[in-house]
Amino acid sequence: MIQVRGLSKRYGSLTAVDGVSFSIAAGEAFGLLGPNGAGKSTIIHMLGGLIEASSGEIQIDGSSDPTKPSVRAQLGISPQGLAIYDDLTGEENLSTFGSLYGLSGSRLKERIHWALEFAGLSDRRKDRVHAYSGGMKRRLNLACAVIHDPRVLICDEPTVGVDPQSRNHIFDSIEALRKQGTTLLYTTHYMEEASRLCDRVAIMDHGKILAVDTVDKLIAAHGGKSVVHAELNQAPKPGTSLPGTLEGTAFKMDTDRPFEVVAELGRSQLDIRSLNVVRPDLERVFLKLTGRRLRDE
Ligand code: ADP
Repeated sequence: MIQVRGLSKRYGSLTAVDGVSFSIAAGEAFGLLGPNGAGKSTIIHMLGGLIEASSGEIQIDGSSDPTKPSVRAQLGISPQGLAIYDDLTGEENLSTFGSLYGLSGSRLKERIHWALEFAGLSDRRKDRVHAYSGGMKRRLNLACAVIHDPRVLICDEPTVGVDPQSRNHIFDSIEALRKQGTTLLYTTHYMEEASRLCDRVAIMDHGKILAVDTVDKLIAAHGGKSVVHAELNQAPKPGTSLPGTLEGTAFKMDTDRPFEVVAELGRSQLDIRSLNVVRPDLERVFLKLTGRRLRDE
C-alpha cells in the first residue's frame, strides 16, 4: 500500500530524515517509534504531500505523487497540530472536511453522523469547538481525518497532551478502524502504544530507522533477557545453592526462562517476601540500539 525508499529531508545543514525505507502492506498497522525530533512528523508531512522530499521515493497505492486527488482521497491524515476550526461547531467542522473530500447530500449526512459517534461527540455536535476540552478537540481532529472513509489512516502522535479518558477513546477508535481493515501509519514516542497497536514497528532516532520488525521479534533480537528479582525476609543459610546472584537479601537473575526460575525459587527453602519479573520491552530495545532512553522523564 505504501512504499518509501531512501527518503530524506534536509533543512540547510540539518538532516531531519536520513534515507529511510519501509513498506506498509494493505491492512497493516505500522508504527514509527522514536523520541521527539527523530523525524517522524517530517516523514508524515512528506507522505501527505505537505512538504517535498529532498531525495528518495514514495509510492502510495502505486502512485508516486501524494498530492494527486485520487491518492489524497485514500489517505486520512490526523496531524499533531490541530487542523480544525475553533469558530465552527463540531458538526460544521465535519461537514466542511467532508465537503472538501467531495461528499454531499445523504452520504455526507450519514458520514457526519458516523463521525460524531466515532468521536463520542454526538451530544456536543452543536457546540463551537472553542468550548471543547483539549481531548475533545483531538477526537474531532481524528474524526475529520476519517470522515471520507479512507483506506489509509496516518496519525501523528494523536494522544500527546490528552487526558486519560480521551486518550483511551482515541486509542479504542483507532483500534476499531484497524479491525475494519484500515491501513495504519502511527507515530508515537510511547512504547506502550506501539506495542498495543502495531503489527510492525520501525525504531527511529536522528532521522534514521534503526530496526523494523514485529514487537516480539525486536524484543527477541535486541531486548536482552528477562530479570527475576526476589527480596528475601532473611539471608539463606550459608552454602545454599541458588541459580542467580544474591546481595544480602536481594536475589537477581537474568534469564530467558523467568517463570522456570520463579517455579524453582518457589520449590526452594527460601523465605521470599516479594518477587517480580521484568520482561524486556521496546524501551529496552531503544536503549540497546541508541544508548539512550526513549523519553527523558
Ligand atoms: P518528530 O516528529 O520525530 O518529533 P520532526 O520530524 O518534527 O520530529 O523533526 C525532525 C527534526 O527536523 C528536528 O530536529 C526538527 O527540529 C527539524 N525540523 C522539522 N521541521 C523543520 C523546519 N521546517 N525547518 C527546520 N528544521 C525542522
